[in-house]
Amino acid sequence: MEVTNKEPAEESSVPPPKKRIDINELRTCKNKGCGKSYKEKDNHDSACDYHPGPAVFHDRMRGWKCCDIHVKEFDEFMEIPPCTKGWHNADAV
Ligand SMILES: [Zn+2]
Ligand SMILES: [Zn+2]
Repeated sequence: MEVTNKEPAEESSVPPPKKRIDINELRTCKNKGCGKSYKEKDNHDSACDYHPGPAVFHDRMRGWKCCDIHVKEFDEFMEIPPCTKGWHNADAV
């Protein structure tokens, strides 16, 4: 009786699939002050309302440098209307 117990010599290496953007895929905008979900097909140069920032935290004040608004309460800070329009961006660093 012959027993063959051979390990496969080489693993077939499949290259990882290329990342493609699906224009119908729901993505989440990473722009500050936006954070909305959007589809790439609905994205355009004024789709997003956001703060380019940076956010400023100083003593008990917080706010946005981009539009130079500073408030005391976090709730107020969250409600500062976005000052800039642009593209939604799901890949912000
Ligand atoms: Zn702003
Ligand atoms: Zn956005």
